[in-house]
Amino acid sequence: TTAQIGVTGLAVMGRNLARNFARNGYTVAVHNRTVSRTHALVEEFGGEGDFVAAETAKDFVAALERPRRLVVMVKAGDPTDAVIQEFAPLLEPGDMIIDGGNAHFADTRRRERELREQGIHFVGTGISGGEEGALHGPSIMPGGSPESYDSLGPMLEKISAKAADGAPCVTHVGPDGAGHFVKMVHNGIEYADMQLIGEAYQLLRDVAGYSPAQIAEIFRTWNTGRLDSYLIEITAEVLSHVDAATGKPFVDVVVDQAEQKGTGRWTVQIALDLGVPVSGIAEAVFARSLSGHAALRDASRGLAGPKAAPLGESEAAAFADRVEQALYASKIVSYTQGFHEIAAGSEEYGWDIDLGAVASIWRGGCIIRAAFLDRIRAAYDARPDLPSLLSDETFAQEIADAQDDWREVLVAATRQGVPTPGFAAALAYYDALRAERLPAALTQGQRDFFGAHTYRRTDRDGSFHTLWGGDRSEVSA
Ligand code: NDP
Repeated sequence: TTAQIGVTGLAVMGRNLARNFARNGYTVAVHNRTVSRTHALVEEFGGEGDFVAAETAKDFVAALERPRRLVVMVKAGDPTDAVIQEFAPLLEPGDMIIDGGNAHFADTRRRERELREQGIHFVGTGISGGEEGALHGPSIMPGGSPESYDSLGPMLEKISAKAADGAPCVTHVGPDGAGHFVKMVHNGIEYADMQLIGEAYQLLRDVAGYSPAQIAEIFRTWNTGRLDSYLIEITAEVLSHVDAATGKPFVDVVVDQAEQKGTGRWTVQIALDLGVPVSGIAEAVFARSLSGHAALRDASRGLAGPKAAPLGESEAAAFADRVEQALYASKIVSYTQGFHEIAAGSEEYGWDIDLGAVASIWRGGCIIRAAFLDRIRAAYDARPDLPSLLSDETFAQEIADAQDDWREVLVAATRQGVPTPGFAAALAYYDALRAERLPAALTQGQRDFFGAHTYRRTDRDGSFHTLWGGDRSEVSA
């Protein structure tokens, strides 16, 4: 038998992806460093489709039809390089290595360049949706050459998630590292979404005075409206869960220190390099790291500040509506920032990424899937050169309608001492963009004063310097 596709690396993701290919009628060669995993997969799930178990790299490669399609689902980083080094010598020009791990896009660019010299297509592919997604249909973000997508596209379309309108959640994002870059920003946006939802929860708890079970109900209601999304849905599930051991709300027995695997941090690091203000995503990453500083938090608990005094019942309901507005407006800003970063990466690396298509393939399968993404796609479809999502009339109008409540929520949060860095960063971004004048003019004056860094004038072209230490006359620089 020849297999149409092979998967090496059979931990949760690889195993489920292999099963997904097999369930869709493909013959799948499977391989894993530890051979027992390969056999376990075929023993347990062999009935789902056609698998070819390969014990060695040579057998694995020999089992594949040409040009070969070889999916690597191993631990990201050095293991990916090790696996490439093992397989590349066994491959021929035209073959494809698809890296479905969470690789850094710079590594993907390097690997693509190196393998291209050998005539091998290296297809860095972002895959989102966790293990359930891998099995039932993930959102897939492939980079690499257009030729590789001609060969892989139909298979990926088959195994991918489908959006509500039936469209497959996969597109050729762009060359080399484009797919992994977009996956990285997806994860950054995911961090921001989660942080904003967390802030909404804390406000409903501390300011409105609702219980976790009541907040779960509020989230369920929100999930029937414009906030309809996977993350809101699972938030309601987590909040309504009761710990069996103590009978307390589950959320109250979990240690409040959030962990991270690094893709959110990369999103911010790369944004800094590209000069893109992703302040909402950055606050989300910082909020997780702050939560983990247990000793610092212990040492700070006695610091002065107000204690939140919950509202009465009727005021609480009105406040909850305001929080929904603040959450929605802040969410628009996070996506605005994330898409700005994708546009900047696309520009920097010449990827020519279609932003509407990216929004489209995030509609199903992935963690940030949401009804909202349809609207983002529509905005970019209507105007592919949209300078920012905030320039879209519909989003601008929604923020216009939400902003009074958004500001009120932040006033309440500030007065009562509830930290809302995500909501606040989003509003500051919005207000900074709409400002007639920014204090950046003063910053330029200061820079010119202490470092003769020069400044431009509003009324004339050129660069200027004021002789601060002398008679304060102005000279052309
Ligand atoms: P892990 O990241 O835990 O990786 C385990 C797999 O890597 C095993 O098959 C292991 O083989 C193999 N491996 C590790 N080191 C080597 C090596 N040096 N040489 C050969 N094989 C090696 O598995 P996951 O399934 O969780 O994730 C796979 C990839 O998918 C990762 O890059 C991850 O970031 C990404 N991903 C994961 C998601 C998730 O929800 N888990 C979601 C989206 C992407 P062995 O059995 O022999 O140890």
